[in-house]
Amino acid sequence: MLRERDIQIHTGEFIGEVDDETVYVGDDKELDYDVLLWTGGITGQNVAEKLDIGQDERSHRLHASSTFKTSEDNVFAIGDSALVDQPGDEPAPPTAQAAWDAAEVVGENVKRAMNDQPLKEWRYKDKGTVISVGDEAVAQDVKPVDGADQAIARVLGNPFGGMPAETLKKAIAARWIAKVAGPGRAAKAWPDM
Ligand SMILES: Cc1cc2nc3c(=O)[nH]c(=O)nc-3n(C[C@H](O)[C@H](O)[C@H](O)COP(=O)(O)OP(=O)(O)OC[C@H]3O[C@@H](n4cnc5c(N)ncnc54)[C@H](O)[C@@H]3O)c2cc1C
Repeated sequence: MLRERDIQIHTGEFIGEVDDETVYVGDDKELDYDVLLWTGGITGQNVAEKLDIGQDERSHRLHASSTFKTSEDNVFAIGDSALVDQPGDEPAPPTAQAAWDAAEVVGENVKRAMNDQPLKEWRYKDKGTVISVGDEAVAQDVKPVDGADQAIARVLGNPFGGMPAETLKKAIAARWIAKVAGPGRAAKAWPDM
């Protein structure tokens, strides 16, 4: 969709510097800009920098095993502030989906640690991805329903769009609101989603 609109996409390149007019990419590429939208990625908490706990040098995200234990026996780390070990090279992703799932297990593990019991290993399971793409967007491989093509989804590897994807996106948000603030609040928020 972006390419059809003649938009150039550069990936896998490192932005070294930005000034009022120019983005400096890699060693020799410069891009002038009118509007810059920077989504620079995930960083840990500033306070972590001062802690003597194993962490990534640049982001200060704390290294944690798949039990969420850090280099300190009595410190556990989850969510965006942590790099939680998983099988393979990549840590668990910095998403709400992973943080929420991890929270259920870390609570249990803190209790177990206090009782000198073995800790549970956590494995991140990707439930899928739902993306808002705007009213006019139509994704490849996805057949949208007229007037209801505001989201695309991939659940268990199968992409779909249209009303089912839009409803799923709303349902995910409503589920979260219901969990933290009750079903009444979720129902009230539904029309504005
Ligand atoms: C724009 C945006 C869109 C996103 N969309 C999605 C999405 O669609 N799906 C998805 O899965 N993930 C999404 N994410 C990622 C998701 O929000 C995070 O991965 C998730 O919130 C991480 O949870 P967390 O509990 O680790 O951190 P947070 O949710 O950031 O919670 C940390 C909390 O700690 C508080 N805090 C910080 N410092 C202190 C301090 N010193 N003392 C006390 N409290 C403190 C903060 O105020 C905050 O409330 C999105 C993120 C952004 C920014």
